[in-house]
Amino acid sequence: MTVRVVFIGAGPGAADLITVRGARRLAEAEVVLFDALTDPALRSMAPQALWVDVGKRGFRHGTGQATIDALLVRYAQSHQRVVRLKGGDPSVFGRLEEELQALAAAGIACEVVPGVTAALAAAAQTQRPLTRRGSGRSVSLATAMTREGELQGGRHADTEVFYMAGRQLGALGRRLLAAGWGADTPVCVASRAGWTDALASTHSLAELGAAAVLHAGRPSIVTVGAGAHAVVAGAKTPARHALAAEKPVTAP
Ligand code: SAH
Repeated sequence: MTVRVVFIGAGPGAADLITVRGARRLAEAEVVLFDALTDPALRSMAPQALWVDVGKRGFRHGTGQATIDALLVRYAQSHQRVVRLKGGDPSVFGRLEEELQALAAAGIACEVVPGVTAALAAAAQTQRPLTRRGSGRSVSLATAMTREGELQGGRHADTEVFYMAGRQLGALGRRLLAAGWGADTPVCVASRAGWTDALASTHSLAELGAAAVLHAGRPSIVTVGAGAHAVVAGAKTPARHALAAEKPVTAP
């Protein structure tokens, strides 16, 4: 069965963070269904294609995913090569499960091309490796928000990485303290990692709420524990600086 739909991870920001394979498949697209988080510069990689914005912001709450599933199936039935372009990696908090199921139910063959997920972009941006010899043996990728809109935060790995914490940084900090992390645990917050206007700041867990202002309204990754502290001595922002939110690790 020939592949009709290719899911492509666009990476976290700048268009050159897409994989070579992703760029090649994109160049062959007739139709591209894309999300809000993907870089508009990616459009120049497929100028021949019809670009359809399916960013959920354009849909009313609750109907978004079903509409996207239906559009995907409809375009795949009328075109040879449909690309579903997603921010970061399609397999990480990308609703890939639902879309694969919808296509499978319609008998449409797919391929998935991986991308650089935001957690990895944040680690690269801040030069803070997620694993550390001896102290960081495990990494957890978690969403700070449940489907019901509740905040969650636990202690499952040496390095805990949270997506979708939004403005809830103070509350997330309190959840993590309650889950057993120490008040002086290092936390690194990186927003728009991989973009030219990326920002990052470091905090102690007890002071995580201070990061909310700096990163307000920007997609952010919160890295907690072993992978959060600087590896280079004399890094610009000390891990426990009281006003770390006003002193970004990296500025535009
Ligand atoms: N599939 C995507 C994640 C989608 S969920 C991936 O693999 O990266 C959306 C969340 O990802 C945002 O709320 C934010 O927490 C995070 N995110 C996406 N892009 C980001 C970026 N450039 N910098 C920091 N966080 C980002």
